[in-house]
Amino acid sequence: MHKHVVIAGAGPAGLACARAITMEQPGADVLLLEAGRPYRHRPCPVDKGFACTGCAGVCNVVSGFGGSMHYGDGAKLSLLPSGRRLSDHFGSERASDLCAIAFDWLTAPLDLRPDILGQGLSAGAREAFASNGLSIREYPVAVLGESDLRRVIEGWHTQLTPAVELWHWSELVGAEPEGAGMSVAVRTADGVRHLHTDHLVLATGRRGVTSTARLLHQLGAEMTEPDISVGVRFEMAAGLLTAIGDEHPDLKITQLEHLENKTKTFCFCGGGNGGRVKFTNYGSAFGDPVITLDGHETTERVAGERPLAANFGLLCQVQGRGTARQARDSFLAIYRKLARGRPFTQTLGAFLHHRDDAGDWAGLRERLPFQPSVRDLATGRVDELFTGGEHTSLATGFERLMASILAHSSTPSTVADLHDQVIVIGPELEFLWERPQIDTGCRVPGLPVYTVGDAAGIAQGIVQAAMMGIAAGQAIARSRDLAGPMTAPRGSGLR
Ligand SMILES: Cc1cc2nc3c(=O)[nH]c(=O)nc-3n(C[C@H](O)[C@H](O)[C@H](O)COP(=O)(O)OP(=O)(O)OC[C@H]3O[C@@H](n4cnc5c(N)ncnc54)[C@H](O)[C@@H]3O)c2cc1C
Repeated sequence: MHKHVVIAGAGPAGLACARAITMEQPGADVLLLEAGRPYRHRPCPVDKGFACTGCAGVCNVVSGFGGSMHYGDGAKLSLLPSGRRLSDHFGSERASDLCAIAFDWLTAPLDLRPDILGQGLSAGAREAFASNGLSIREYPVAVLGESDLRRVIEGWHTQLTPAVELWHWSELVGAEPEGAGMSVAVRTADGVRHLHTDHLVLATGRRGVTSTARLLHQLGAEMTEPDISVGVRFEMAAGLLTAIGDEHPDLKITQLEHLENKTKTFCFCGGGNGGRVKFTNYGSAFGDPVITLDGHETTERVAGERPLAANFGLLCQVQGRGTARQARDSFLAIYRKLARGRPFTQTLGAFLHHRDDAGDWAGLRERLPFQPSVRDLATGRVDELFTGGEHTSLATGFERLMASILAHSSTPSTVADLHDQVIVIGPELEFLWERPQIDTGCRVPGLPVYTVGDAAGIAQGIVQAAMMGIAAGQAIARSRDLAGPMTAPRGSGLR
């Protein structure tokens, strides 16, 4: 079987790539492979209060039509200069154009364009953070609630399914050069199928974090080691984060001063409805099974007897753990030893002061002044995941940040008052992607292979992934074999 283009991964990068190609070349024969399930079949047991089972080896949070845009969750669309490394990659003018197209496509299925926040913050917000030596990065952010994101995913599906061939449960498992194109192997429910394609797009995101890097190494792509950051997620009553979360839904604060390791907030989930802690089950991508954390903002949850929870991640760059791979492996080895590779928690006071919490998770869960967003946790020494320098950076970074948040919200509490009211859940682990050398069409030099979205290791985020997908899609659509007089699909008799 021959296809003009095979795209592996139906996340925002792969979807945007497919759309860019089919808009410019409606006759192109595009096959979209998705290792996961159709979008309506992606329930997450953890969201429903059950234990993470790994969903038969295909984590529904990060796999399936929509990719890490999980049907049922909300999402934030953060625009440039968030992901500014893409401006370095594409040049600022081209990056701005791509960002505008990506935002337009991502919000087109909505009846109303979402409000843009995150800029022109109040003087009170800026001052509260400045008084602790912190400055807030302002950039445009739109919040999509759960219903909005469902509509977006449905919109992409409606638009693309007549234009491209979509195979669910179909995982790219191998590729090698064949003639001017690529021969690819795809594992499907019916066994492994082999195809030939002129262009292969790797849009494999989190699920492909190790397998895609392995494939690119095999293909001889030049790869750069990633920067690894490790950290935790802090969960607390939503009211504590609402004031700043409403002004800047994707609050990003980087701390460099007075800390051993650069520290930054990550995936802030603190609007009026708070947010949910999410589990990402990497299965065996890193050897023995391991689950890491993320978060997403919600807009539609209904509080029960206790207030809803909100959360944010805090990450610090690793130091003194050797190469990126050694750092990742050593961190995961400690995690497996402490908690069998499953998320665990500690009160803030115990985390900051390196001590055990008295009692188990069931008891702690009942004592908290908010309804924790997940049940599948155990208590343990989260603090022991980190080296001394990492722990100091996370602890000092949190205290400074939280003091600013409290000052801005005019809450009478101090950070010390929160020792039993905030839980620290671990671990958060970021920037795992090795970075292949790619050009401005996201193509690996010398091969008809393109790497886009998270898999490219340049910048994370939904808009950022879509930007890269569009860039690759346009490059493919304008390539000599697709553009010009030889446009008709193979087998049509016109080629
Ligand atoms: C819980 C969570 C919340 C997030 N919240 C936000 C947010 O609010 N705002 C934001 O900007 N970013 C957010 N992110 C990050 C954002 O979702 C990602 O940066 C973005 O989705 C990356 O897009 P992608 O297309 O590169 O990869 P993904 O979205 O990860 O999609 C990759 C797809 O490829 C499939 N795949 C993998 N390997 C193969 C293969 N070999 N063959 C076939 N298919 C394959 C996967 O199953 C998956 O569906 C969040 C991430 C998570 C996990």
